Amino acid sequence: MTTQGLVIINTGHGKGKSTAAFGQAVRAAGHGLRVCIIQFIKGQSDTGEALAFTSAFPGQVELHLVGTGFTWQEDKETVKAAALTGWELAKEKILSAAYDLIVLDELTYLIGFGIVSQEEVIGLFRRRPKRLHLVITGRDASQGLIDYADLVTEMRAIKHPFQKGIKAQKGIEF
Ligand code: ATP
Ligand code: MG
Repeated sequence: MTTQGLVIINTGHGKGKSTAAFGQAVRAAGHGLRVCIIQFIKGQSDTGEALAFTSAFPGQVELHLVGTGFTWQEDKETVKAAALTGWELAKEKILSAAYDLIVLDELTYLIGFGIVSQEEVIGLFRRRPKRLHLVITGRDASQGLIDYADLVTEMRAIKHPFQKGIKAQKGIEF
């Protein structure tokens, strides 16, 4: 069986983009695929996914937290610098041939905020090993990225507990 690497995008304004990507990572890891996850925005190391991946699949699922955890409004330069460092890491990982699946969690914001161009992102994806699957998450995926991808899913918000004032909960949101 030959493997055709896919570019998969989970976008939209509803919940489930990142968790679906982690579910994909678990499925891949279950089959022994080598997985790398890069989280661009969130910087916490105690999220459920970080704890699960580092303890449940040691040495098989690599997790990199390159975000500062700060929002864009607080300190643009720090956030931008962290995102750029993350992008350099993503380039190295994508070209390394050491993985079967790479998750680029919240990558769409790097394009949205003009930190990397859509062209640079697609250019890198084109140069990746043929068998490498990529999963990209984040709101408002740019049209060029959508056109280039093989599989695009939009999470649409119908209801969210936030609307009735229920705060983020452990195990559901982080
Ligand atoms: P998750 O990580 O739970 O799969 P996500 O990746 O789809 O969520 P993000 O845009 O990364 O969502 O936002 C992360 C947080 O924002 C999540 O905790 C999620 O519950 C919350 N969130 C997502 N969609 C909405 C919404 N429509 N209204 C309010 N909060 C939301
Ligand atoms: Mg997310």
